[in-house]
Amino acid sequence: MIKPDAVEANNIGPILAMMTEAGFKIVALKYTKLSAEQAGKFYAVHSERPFYGELVEFMSRGPIVAAILEKDNAVEDFRKLIGATNPAQAEEGTIRKRFAKSIGENAVHGSDSDENAQIEGDFFFSQLERF
Ligand code: GDP
Repeated sequence: MIKPDAVEANNIGPILAMMTEAGFKIVALKYTKLSAEQAGKFYAVHSERPFYGELVEFMSRGPIVAAILEKDNAVEDFRKLIGATNPAQAEEGTIRKRFAKSIGENAVHGSDSDENAQIEGDFFFSQLERF
């Protein structure tokens, strides 16, 4: 997912380019906006964390781009491409190093396991929207 901060900053194009240049194939793609309720569900795993309210507010404040990406070893390789959660710790050449503003507003989301990638893909896309 390309998060609201990166959409606001007009960075959809360069972020998608970094993904495809890194060898990810786009299987599904959508420009949409999460309600606070949907953002809360998407990040339910963090509901006990102190930043949950801020995270839900941020993720529902403007449009996002959701994508399903395909590649060998996709989860691990995508986590490497996006970089550390906190952009201050993200390595050179990562999406967060280049585009993230803070630990909260960090430009992109990537699934952390194949299982969650399945769940999160199903959150945004029907089977008819995947190619
Ligand atoms: P990720 O897998 O690298 O996205 O990181 P996490 O799963 O740990 O956190 C999910 C998302 O919650 C992050 O990408 C941030 O947008 C947000 N987040 C994490 N830690 C903090 C924090 O300390 N403060 C705020 N405001 N947001 C945070």
